[in-house]
Amino acid sequence: MVFDYANEKHLGQLRKTGDPYITHSLNIAHTLAGWGLDQTSIEAGLLHDLPEMSGISIEEIEKKFGVELADLVDGVNLVGQVRLRGSRDMEFLENLRKMFVHMAKDLRAVLIRLADRRHNILTLYGLPIIKQRPIALETLEIYVPLAERMGMGKLKSELEDLTFPYVYPEEYKWVTEIAGPHFKHSIENVPESINRIRLQMSKHGIVAQIDGRPKHKYSLYRKLMRPEINQDIGKIHDLIAVRIITKDAASCYSALGVLHQYWKPVPFLGISDFIAQPKPNGYQSIHTKVFDHRGNIIEIQIRSEEMHVQAEFGPAAHFAYSIAKSSGASTDKLEEGTSFKVGNKFDWVKQLVGWKDQMFSEKEAIKDFSLDALSHHIYVFSPKGDVYDLPENSTPVDYAFNVHSSLGFFIQTAKINDRIATVDAKLKSGDVVEIIKTKKSKSPNKNWLRFVKTHKAKLEIKKALEKVGGV
Ligand code: MN
Repeated sequence: MVFDYANEKHLGQLRKTGDPYITHSLNIAHTLAGWGLDQTSIEAGLLHDLPEMSGISIEEIEKKFGVELADLVDGVNLVGQVRLRGSRDMEFLENLRKMFVHMAKDLRAVLIRLADRRHNILTLYGLPIIKQRPIALETLEIYVPLAERMGMGKLKSELEDLTFPYVYPEEYKWVTEIAGPHFKHSIENVPESINRIRLQMSKHGIVAQIDGRPKHKYSLYRKLMRPEINQDIGKIHDLIAVRIITKDAASCYSALGVLHQYWKPVPFLGISDFIAQPKPNGYQSIHTKVFDHRGNIIEIQIRSEEMHVQAEFGPAAHFAYSIAKSSGASTDKLEEGTSFKVGNKFDWVKQLVGWKDQMFSEKEAIKDFSLDALSHHIYVFSPKGDVYDLPENSTPVDYAFNVHSSLGFFIQTAKINDRIATVDAKLKSGDVVEIIKTKKSKSPNKNWLRFVKTHKAKLEIKKALEKVGGV
């Protein structure tokens, strides 16, 4: 049995916390089971540290347990070689790329690594202080954006909140202090609001589960630092976000209708409908800010059960869902759920993998690649409502080249939310971007290279300039 084997081979080994080593493997297996992953993943979780800790070879694992499990353990170990701190740039880039190649082949190796990292951060206190911050920082810079782009909302917030005090101790203290009284106010008032919503929903025959969830500290910190918030906690209305979870998508809109009859939406803050227009990582929900019975502004999120599971667990949710439904599920659904190949939602993974040797020798590619892969992402809309996923601080020029390489050669000016804007304006999530086109194609401006954020825009601009001898 896999557990007995792992237990025997880890016997006598201790974690830095003083616990038997097998507690680490068990925690990971437990997390993976919670995410609804398959048996092979859970077994690979149990075995993942045997090559490093006990010198067990992949061949040995293959002989004992078969090729699928051995391959997965191998994959987990390869993915684990991604080091940010203390590694040279090119090595980091190569490792990062390896990770994405693995993701494209089999997401499970990356999911197991994420579960592994989660436990390592939970037990970070066991390490010497000098080692804690680099590991926490690496987690915040690599694993958190990865979890975010995969749509694993729960893991993302968990890792952020666990690493926040290690990485930014001063800021953590500051947020805790200023948020304290505001949280207290919310905690005193939100339950009453929730009760009223429950009453409204049941009166109209809408079956829903309603609860409140305090905002995570790190995401609160990031929000406070946004220019439009300017560290004013009074401008943050989702300290406790209220969630209405309904049976299906149609009931989300019924619930919204009922809610707005009683509590009016706040003008200009308004509604975001991520059901009609999902975020690029697959996230779906309706967010609305309303005045409650006391006149306080609160944010309410409405989503179906399936959307909720998807938002919390991302790609793992596919699997969990198909297990839950296995007997009644169609073949299509099952195939979609049980194969861990990268689907349409993960086009960005394929894109990153596809970069390959294209820019590889250039030192600059390192920065681009990490930026595209790991920076926080925003999503913007075309005038027709198509969603585009861009790194933070992208501009209309980035947008143009990412919509279509040729659109970039027709930029006259841009409109953001129907207002004329400069081509270097910084885009925000939710912006509608329109490119006002020139009649004839023109060569890109050399100065654009100073502000574009995406690899794609940079590459196209450089190529075009080289052609006309402009660089
Ligand atoms: Mn481990």
